[in-house]
Amino acid sequence: MAEDADRTEDIAEEEEQPELDEVVKEEKTKDTDRIDKAPRISLKNPLGLIFNTRMLRRVVQILFFIGINAYLFAAWFGGDEVLAFWENFREVLPTLPIIAPLEGSFAVLAGTFDTLQRELTSGFFPFFTIGAMIIILTILGRSACGWICPIGTVQDFASIPNRNKVRPAPGSENELRRIKAYLFVIIGFLAAWVGVSTVLGNEEALVNVLGPFANGAFDPFNPAYIIFVEFANQNWPTGLETLWYVTQWEWFLVQFAFIIVIVVVSFWIPRWFCRWICPAGWLYGVFSRAALFSIGRNPARCTPDTCNVCEVVCPMNIRIRRFPYQHMHSPDCILCLDCRSHCPNKAIVVRFS
Ligand code: SF4
Ligand code: SF4
Ligand code: SF4
Repeated sequence: MAEDADRTEDIAEEEEQPELDEVVKEEKTKDTDRIDKAPRISLKNPLGLIFNTRMLRRVVQILFFIGINAYLFAAWFGGDEVLAFWENFREVLPTLPIIAPLEGSFAVLAGTFDTLQRELTSGFFPFFTIGAMIIILTILGRSACGWICPIGTVQDFASIPNRNKVRPAPGSENELRRIKAYLFVIIGFLAAWVGVSTVLGNEEALVNVLGPFANGAFDPFNPAYIIFVEFANQNWPTGLETLWYVTQWEWFLVQFAFIIVIVVVSFWIPRWFCRWICPAGWLYGVFSRAALFSIGRNPARCTPDTCNVCEVVCPMNIRIRRFPYQHMHSPDCILCLDCRSHCPNKAIVVRFS
């Protein structure tokens, strides 16, 4: 614990050191080497190629991606049967702290943030949704972001082929992280305004002014909404002779371009949308800071002065070594466990307390 206190003081000191950015830049050149040297999967245990945390997470991510947007099942079994199957599930499941639209044609899961928006703009105070969100985040932290959210999955898979990720300096990263908080305030304010107007019965003028932002101000640029709702509603070209359909897309062209930007930028900057833009992620971070499940480091094994592998592989670009050994209560940790998988000294531990 004494070491933890020392480290906490170090954090405050480090944040005021301008030369830290230089250190980070120097370390960056060695990062790839360090990751290469880190033990990944032992060749003596070929089953480790399949049964390991990283592979398990990928499988879970794919299953939930398909489950949220089950067009594949619809193609096999027919739309009505699949719709009935998923709707039975949706009746009993709480919303999860991810982003997933309620309107997804075959969606079994809905995102908490998406539901909060809808309930607020309809004039209801979302007691149940908020309660379920707090319980889930307090126990499991943001693990749903790391393991289930379809937009996290898209970004993770886009960044897999690139071993040389871009890591902004801490100062720039902190500035960029503020964007999602500002967006949350704007979106929350608009939702509450529409909700209060609905209760008072004078929402018509406001809804006309807000247009596509009235039902949920995040929707037009919510990648989950674009992928699972807007994509399905478009007239897609089936050949060269129908390529002109694209000219009818109008607003969807901008949304489509936004999805491409998310994927392309993720190749170099993992989870950039989660880290900087997603207002839902900001909200979930507020309630997951003191989650019962969290990451810690074993001080007997960790060698923070000569190693930074965990920070280099962290998709959320968290400065893990700045946190106390005992618990890393970061609102940005999505419990993906990539740091644990890559740590050469097996110093990262998952704690429940
Ligand atoms: S922060 Fe990322 S993973 Fe979490 S809800 Fe937003 S898009 Fe999904
Ligand atoms: S936990 Fe410590 S030993 Fe493990 S990768 Fe991080 S700094 Fe290195
Ligand atoms: S600290 Fe570890 S578990 Fe948390 S987001 Fe970073 S790599 Fe994932």
